[in-house]
Amino acid sequence: MNAANASPTGSHRARKRFGQNFLQDQGIIQDIIAAIAPQANDGMVEIGPGLAALTKPLLDHLDTLHVVEIDRDLIARLKQRFPATRLHIHEGDALAFDFAALAQQIHSPGRLRIVGNLPYNISTPLLFHLARAADQVQDMHFMLQKEVVERMVAAPGTAAYGRLSVMLQYRFYMDLLFIVPPSAFSPAPKVDSAIVRMVPRPPAELGAKDEELFAQLVGAAFSQRRKMLRNTLDAFFSADELVAQGIQATARAEELALADFVHLANRAAAKAQHT
Ligand code: SAM
Repeated sequence: MNAANASPTGSHRARKRFGQNFLQDQGIIQDIIAAIAPQANDGMVEIGPGLAALTKPLLDHLDTLHVVEIDRDLIARLKQRFPATRLHIHEGDALAFDFAALAQQIHSPGRLRIVGNLPYNISTPLLFHLARAADQVQDMHFMLQKEVVERMVAAPGTAAYGRLSVMLQYRFYMDLLFIVPPSAFSPAPKVDSAIVRMVPRPPAELGAKDEELFAQLVGAAFSQRRKMLRNTLDAFFSADELVAQGIQATARAEELALADFVHLANRAAAKAQHT
C-alpha cells in the first residue's frame, strides 16, 4: 500500500460487505460540505460515518451530529475521537433505523437533514426505506453510484427510467449535483459516483390517494419493462379501460410520466372501491 492509500484508512481494513469506500479527496469533501451547507443547530444524521471523512468537517459547522454505523470497529474509533456530547452514535443497520422517530426525538419534526456516502450494496432498499420517513425530512444529500443517481433523476422514454425513478420522483425533487471519480476514494470503486440532493415534495403535491396501490401499480408496470401495459397491468385494467383513460394499451411503462402513473393508480383505487 502506498502512502496516499495508507493515510485515509489508517490501520482499518475496508470491509467489502459493508460497502466501505472511504473518501480521501479533500477537495471533493469540501465540495460535498458546501453542497450540504450545514448550519450550527441543524438536526442532522449521517449514514455510515466510517472513518469520519465527512463527519469531522460536518462537526466543524454543527453543534451536534447523529450518525448510524453498522461496523463495530469503526464505532469504537468514532467514540475515541469525538465526545459523546457532540457525536451521537447509533450502532446498527440504517435499513432498520427509525429516522422519523429520530426527527421527533431531536425536536426536528419535518426538518431532519440526512446525509451520507452510502454503502452502495444497499442503496436501493435504503432509498425506499428513507422515502417512508420523507415527511419528517428537510433534505437529503447522498453519494451514490452515478448510474443509480442517473436512474433516480431519469426522464420518461430514456433507458434509465424505471421503478426507482417514478417512486422517488413521486416523493422528492432531486438534482444530480456533481460527479465524483473513483480516485476520490480508498479503496477506489470500479465506477463513477455522484452527489444527489433530494428535497421532499409538499404533501399537497403528491396526489396518489392510495400510495400502497400506487407502488404496486408502478412495480407491476416495470416488472417486465419490454412488455406492453395491457399485459403488465392486466390485474388492474383491461386494454379497453386503459384506452378509455387516454393510455395506449400497447405502450410500455417507460413511456408513462409520473402523472400518468398517479392517474392510473387513482383510477384503480376508485375501481376497487366500487367492486
Ligand atoms: N462516510 C465515510 C466516507 O465517506 O469515507 C464512509 C463511507 S462508506 C462508502 C459506507 C459506510 O457505511 C461505512 O462506514 C460502512 O461501515 C457503513 N455501512 C455499511 N452498511 C451499513 C448499514 N447497513 N447501516 C449503517 N451503516 C452501514
